[in-house]
Amino acid sequence: MYEGVNASEGIGIGTVAVAVEPDLTFTPHAVDDVEAEKARFQAALDAFCEKTAAQAEHMKTSVGEAEAEIMSGHIMLAQDPELTSSIKSSIEGGTCAEQALVETSTMFENMFLSMDDEMFRLRAADIADIRTGILAELLGREVVDLSVLPAGTIIVVHDLTPSMTATIDKKNVAGIVTETGGRTSHSAIIARALEIPAVLSVSNACGALHNGMTAIVDGIHGIVIGEPDEETLADYTKRAEQFAAEKNALEAFRGKPTVTADGVKKVLACNIGNPDDAKGAIEHDAEAIGLFRSEFLFMDAKSLPSEEEQFDAYRKVAVAMKGAPVIIRTLDVGGDKEIPYLKLVKEENPFMGYRAIRYCLDNPDEYKVQLRALLRASAFGDIKIMVPMVTCVEEIRAVKALVEECKAELREEGRKFDENIQVGIMTETAASANIPELLANEADFFSIGTNDLTGYTMAADRGNDKVAYLYSWYYPAVLRAIRNIIVAGSQAGIMVGMCGEAAADPLLTPLLIAWGMDEFSTSAPSILRTRKAISQWTVAEAQELADKALQCSTAEEVKALLEANAK
Ligand code: PEP
Ligand code: MG
Repeated sequence: MYEGVNASEGIGIGTVAVAVEPDLTFTPHAVDDVEAEKARFQAALDAFCEKTAAQAEHMKTSVGEAEAEIMSGHIMLAQDPELTSSIKSSIEGGTCAEQALVETSTMFENMFLSMDDEMFRLRAADIADIRTGILAELLGREVVDLSVLPAGTIIVVHDLTPSMTATIDKKNVAGIVTETGGRTSHSAIIARALEIPAVLSVSNACGALHNGMTAIVDGIHGIVIGEPDEETLADYTKRAEQFAAEKNALEAFRGKPTVTADGVKKVLACNIGNPDDAKGAIEHDAEAIGLFRSEFLFMDAKSLPSEEEQFDAYRKVAVAMKGAPVIIRTLDVGGDKEIPYLKLVKEENPFMGYRAIRYCLDNPDEYKVQLRALLRASAFGDIKIMVPMVTCVEEIRAVKALVEECKAELREEGRKFDENIQVGIMTETAASANIPELLANEADFFSIGTNDLTGYTMAADRGNDKVAYLYSWYYPAVLRAIRNIIVAGSQAGIMVGMCGEAAADPLLTPLLIAWGMDEFSTSAPSILRTRKAISQWTVAEAQELADKALQCSTAEEVKALLEANAK
């Protein structure tokens, strides 16, 4: 049995496929027969194109036409006469096929990267993908391809990158196991969006689990079992059935309003990481988007996304949500969220360092690109701007001043935007929990980021196993921080939501109702369960329990009390 982080709930039972990144290193060799070397390159190119065409065909049905077209585009680019003839003439000069491919394609890649036009810069990423594919053919190595897995596969991989997940055929993947990543990592968020049970950060998973092995992925408890005995297999098969039955029962809450047992209306929103996730949010019956983590747009790119690209992404979500609120968080870089091309200097203590709004306010020209894109997209729906990691009033004032500057520019250019766009903040630092009433004077809304608030309140890094016992929102310090924020926001008459993982914790639901929280924002699969949890409490009952919870001295007492009173 291996333990890891329970990143995406559900129980998956299947056959292990270890997706090993191919080793594409090679030693350049001398070329004796130029024609044979050119033929070797041509054969690798043909094989690459054939595989890519098959992948594109498969993707048409498994992912979508648009994604399949990207793959077809790769074939055209790989066969581009300018590229292939440059490679062949380099071979004619005595360079081996591998070296000729790498040198020539890198030259083309750099050329595309240096261009201003975004379309060309995207070509650079395509060239890099093509290089990997053809090089793997030349070296006789397999590239990780998650689109052609047999049904019931448990993917075991060091890290699940966005480009890998783009090709995942969800219906064939029973579970995901990685060696890195926490509950709030990119891989976790993707796994949850795809609703595939996942356990992350299982050390040496790629070595311990072998191809063809039967394995159980318990994404609820963060456990992976390799080669289970019959009894364990039967037990987990039953648990998987129970999980599916509970999920089915939640369907009764689809299409229903989100109200407490005594009829107090709440907003049930969804957290998303990219514009396509809006579809999943709607499918899961979300009433709004409570957090669009815009940094994924930046992480998935090779350079800063342009105003047009960002505008397209934000507009797409606004349009998909048909006028329902869409809270978009501005770039939350730093800490555990690295964006290599921003070239941030390594810091002693990145979680306390140059990150999120601190970085953005220090780079106002870059930040204004995002603010302008958000404002322009606000003409297409109810977009609200959310500022991450706020610790003081000065920060929100500075952001609002930049928003006003952007508005003035857009007016001048005759562009449409929502003049009354709301600018709110994530309350996720200990500082924000100490001055919520001051921040409420400035912000149009609060959204409590319990993932960070728990870490900053308890001074316990959310990714550090050694202090994981301190990372819990049941600690009285965290509960009080949450309560202070909700109460101050409510008294100031602004909307208070929560977009951290605690919003989906049914044990906490009564406390959040008692203190008057307006909006719950969870990952898509948790939406119906949260609606059910909210429906089970009257405000009076919730308040009685909240009062008792605040009298507890330890996290253990709080948890025991909440569990004893769970509905
Ligand atoms: C949070 O901190 O609770 C949050 C929602 O933001 P992130 O997990 O992206 O830091
Ligand atoms: Mg956060």
